[in-house]
Amino acid sequence: MSLRRRLWLVLGGLFLVPLAVGALVLLLVFPDARNEQVATNVDVAAVTVRVELTDECRSVGLAARAGALESVVSDPELAVGNLVSRGDVDYAAVIDGSGVPLATAGQLPGGSSQPAQLRQCSAQRPTGAGAVVAERVSINDPAHPGRVVVVAKRLDRELLDEIRSRSGTSGQVVLLDGKRVVVSSLGASTTRALVNSTDGRTGRVQLDGWVARVDPPGRDTPWTVVVAAQDPDTGSRTGLLLLILLAAAVVAGVLVTLVARGLSQPYTDIADAAERVARGDLDTDITPATDREAGRLGSAFNQMTGELRRSMAALERSREDLRDSLERIGDTLTSTHDLDGLLQVVLETAVVTLQGKAGVVLHLSADRLQLVGEHGLHDAGLPAPAAVSPGIGVLGQVVSSGEGVRGRIGSGPPELAPVATEPGRGDVLAVPIRSMSNVIGVIALYDRMDGRPFEAADEDALRTLAGQASIAVDNVHLHHEAQRLSTTDPLTGLWNFRYLSMSLAREIERSTRFDRPLAVLMLDLDHFKLVNDEHGHARGDSVLRELAHRVQEQIREVDTFARYGGEEFVVVLPETTVEGAAQLAERICQAVRREPFLSEGEPPLDITVSVGGAAFPEQGSTPATLMRSADRALYVAKGDGRDRWHVPGAPDGAVPGG
Ligand code: GH3
Ligand code: MG
Ligand code: MG
Repeated sequence: MSLRRRLWLVLGGLFLVPLAVGALVLLLVFPDARNEQVATNVDVAAVTVRVELTDECRSVGLAARAGALESVVSDPELAVGNLVSRGDVDYAAVIDGSGVPLATAGQLPGGSSQPAQLRQCSAQRPTGAGAVVAERVSINDPAHPGRVVVVAKRLDRELLDEIRSRSGTSGQVVLLDGKRVVVSSLGASTTRALVNSTDGRTGRVQLDGWVARVDPPGRDTPWTVVVAAQDPDTGSRTGLLLLILLAAAVVAGVLVTLVARGLSQPYTDIADAAERVARGDLDTDITPATDREAGRLGSAFNQMTGELRRSMAALERSREDLRDSLERIGDTLTSTHDLDGLLQVVLETAVVTLQGKAGVVLHLSADRLQLVGEHGLHDAGLPAPAAVSPGIGVLGQVVSSGEGVRGRIGSGPPELAPVATEPGRGDVLAVPIRSMSNVIGVIALYDRMDGRPFEAADEDALRTLAGQASIAVDNVHLHHEAQRLSTTDPLTGLWNFRYLSMSLAREIERSTRFDRPLAVLMLDLDHFKLVNDEHGHARGDSVLRELAHRVQEQIREVDTFARYGGEEFVVVLPETTVEGAAQLAERICQAVRREPFLSEGEPPLDITVSVGGAAFPEQGSTPATLMRSADRALYVAKGDGRDRWHVPGAPDGAVPGG
């Protein structure tokens, strides 16, 4: 059940239960009080109605006495006539002792057949003579003993209403003669129902919808007097009460709904927002409620999602960093053959990935660890490792043992003992880098950014990176070897024709661009066929090697010396003029000629070489034209007798062999 529904139930209970109880009390108590008041009214009305009826009897009695007197002094006819004509009564008669009417006036009211049967109001008992107020008075006339005056007044609705109005009651009045209804202010059927429901009871009688007072005939009246009042308001007041109750319930319901919603809305908002966050929508924020607790909860929620967003952004950034690093290392490992650059990239990647404060990578060369790259040493206040020998210090231990080292420098294990030649404090993680299963270097990280020590997982990660680096280092070595094989001549170790072509093209381009001199020399051994023929091909090969060696000693490091093919060689001479080329040609001829070529167990051989030269751009501005010119010059030297050089444009006298 939701919070709102539960609040609704609690608040609804608080509002509606007292309302219902109050309504019940009103419904139960109010009608009783009301009934009591009506009953009292009815009691009073009954008394006044009876007083009025008594008055009626008395006035009829007075009329009868006046008639009796008049009948004595005048005559009966006149007396009864006057009684009726004055309107005192409806009927008057003088009856003799034997019951015979002597004089009558007016109409005997219905229901009374004989005047003799009329009974007196004052008789204090049921008259049995119908709806009349009658009185009988004896005429005290000695001349006519036994004579009586009988008068009757119609007791009809009209008279009853007059009596009711005189008594000032609004109650209904029914007069009963025994069980017979004499007159009633109500309709016949209502009267009958009312009478039946009194069921002979007297006094205050509570009837269905009525409060009645039933007084039996008494000293004052000969009739049973029933005064009844309906509580005209009971029904409508109950209805009104129910209506008010309903309205109050509706208002209470609306109020409770509003309050329940107001109380629960902030929590519903927070729950909805939490669900959105759970679905991954981190941009969810809520407007904090002003309510204290809900407001705090909302603010805390916003703070939480804010933190979450920041963490996610940081995570995303570090993931991007990692991706960049991996891309960088991937690109580098596959594209570069620069070993130092490659190791530097591996170090950068390791530092970023493992959050190291500083790191170094060293390459083992000539049995010493040389620093190839470092990261953050200065910021971390650490010295750069210098002159590291295998077996000494953390880095040296890694090289000699081939195992990684992880821990705090200066703590516990001997391999973590500090030495002066490398960083001597803090956390360290170092692993070897291998090539062809030999350790060729070390990569080491110092201190983590977050201050935590390096863990086994970090060592695994660094080992993996070092493994990748090892593969890349192997690739570099392979590449270098392949490159070397593809551009060098296996017999002499000189550059081959392929490399010569590339080198010459590069040098011509540079000379063209910077307008610098360039020259080439082409060498061809003289009568070399004879060497092969007379001393064998192997001896020929050793002569070629020796020649390469002798020429190599004459040229500069920047010169490119290549075997052109067979026993022909080319030297590319950057920054060299015709004069320079001629001088070198001369030195080469001398170096070959100067001493015989020796070989163990073989006779010494006198070998000579012819050289042709060409200068850029005079003899050629492209590789092909320049080579062709040099070839032509060589041909000239051969033609001139061999063991000499020819360089077109060279000053005269520079041709000692010529
Ligand atoms: P020339 O003075 O006119 O140059 O005479 P030459 O005998 O040197 O003439 P040629 O160019 O005809 O002969 C080249 C010889 O070089 C032919 C071949 O037997 C030899 N030769 C070429 N390459 C090699 C090699 O790799 N090893 C050996 N041993 N001999 C080679
Ligand atoms: Mg030759
Ligand atoms: Mg040749």
